[in-house]
Amino acid sequence: MTRSWAEPWKIKMVEPLSMTTRDQREDAIRDAGYNTFLLRSDDVYIDLLTDSGTSAMSDRQWSALMLGDEAYAGARSFYKLVEAVSDVYGYEELIPTHQGRGAEHILSQLLIGPGDVVPGNMYFTTTRYHQEHAGGTFVDVIIDEAHDPSSMHPFKGNIDLDKLAAVVDEHGADRIAYVSFETNVNMAGGQPASLANIKDVYAYCSERDIPVMLDATRAVENAYFIQQREAGHENSSIADILLEITKHSDGATVSSKKDNLVNIGGFLAVRDPELARRARAMLVAFEGLHTYGGMAGRDMEALAEGIREMVATDDHVRSRVGQVGYLGEALVKYGVPVVTPIGGHGVFLDAAAILPHLPQEAFPAQALAAAIYVDSGVRGMERGIVSAGRDPETGDHHVPKLELVRLTIPRRVYTQSHMDVVAESVIEVYDHAEDIQGLEFTYEPPELRFFQARFQPIS
Ligand SMILES: *Cc1c(COP(=O)(O)O)cnc(C)c1O
Repeated sequence: MTRSWAEPWKIKMVEPLSMTTRDQREDAIRDAGYNTFLLRSDDVYIDLLTDSGTSAMSDRQWSALMLGDEAYAGARSFYKLVEAVSDVYGYEELIPTHQGRGAEHILSQLLIGPGDVVPGNMYFTTTRYHQEHAGGTFVDVIIDEAHDPSSMHPFKGNIDLDKLAAVVDEHGADRIAYVSFETNVNMAGGQPASLANIKDVYAYCSERDIPVMLDATRAVENAYFIQQREAGHENSSIADILLEITKHSDGATVSSKKDNLVNIGGFLAVRDPELARRARAMLVAFEGLHTYGGMAGRDMEALAEGIREMVATDDHVRSRVGQVGYLGEALVKYGVPVVTPIGGHGVFLDAAAILPHLPQEAFPAQALAAAIYVDSGVRGMERGIVSAGRDPETGDHHVPKLELVRLTIPRRVYTQSHMDVVAESVIEVYDHAEDIQGLEFTYEPPELRFFQARFQPIS
């Protein structure tokens, strides 16, 4: 007999959703230039644009807000946060920032010099921006399987040690600023790295005095996949696996808007007190005094509680990743092409395979995201040629291998019935995919065009 899992919480407060008609949605998407980023959230029914800062806080986190110590210096809430990060992540030195990119900015400025190289497992937009802004060059050393949407490799987030060694041999270990190791790689579809790979990379780098800095934003989701898929860890708790991951690193940047179950916040955490001292000197200039950085006392209180809750029992992450898997499996079962294995934070639809009649220059993923919105009010996001932008030298589109629509699931926000509605809508649109028209720009911004671009159907 199957035994179902369910959410390890019940609902105490509800937020009504906007229910719209198809006519209203057709008007809304036209007004938004067929770009889901330009929709008003009041016109959205189920919002799967991002899992960033969209989590629901617990009753304990809401009550923790009231305990926030707003002292300018030495706030009690800061020391609570230091203790939580030390207990759960194992790093003693904490630099609190307004969100993940604030931590990336400080780390990049401290460790990267002009001409340095930063190898990493696929890029993340803001991370790479700060590495390049500091004068570094990012080099992708993720395994090849990560770029293949249908590869069933269980750890598509792994670093390819041969690729890493080739980069080190080419440039010399002292030109490698650090290895930028992302857990549960976002741009690859929320795909994990194995603990064996994390250990191997750290051992290789330690021998050569190359720091390993984690992007531990989704390390809890990564820990869950290690528990489920890596031999020898099936009986370890998520809390223990997380500490085992971070043990094989010199520090981490974290966007607390993801795993940590809060709506704003982030941090840099390191082991080296001297690096921490230099980071605090920068923090004061760019974020705030070293005992609050970019957060109010109440934000730090809610964050400290969120950090403890995310690993207090394994049931939390099992239900979080389980919900993503539930939606993914429903689509796989029907035959809708998606990135596999299903990742930790969202389901990625393979728009190129769903809309074979549209060339990539007609923006199939953009058109598919708009069509799903019109069908049901479910908002996803394009991750394809529009997001990739243009080559600044030639002016041509960057042409990514993956042309995807991302349906990202906020934590503790939607129910299984919402997931059923999403799956039914995607299936409906998939069944009539040949009716979807391509799009053309009516406005194309020069930078990060996907946020603000406007389109119309190709006539
Ligand atoms: C969201 C995210 C960031 C950036 O964090 P912000 O809090 O949005 O500034 C960095 N890395 C990864 C993997 C992320 O998902």
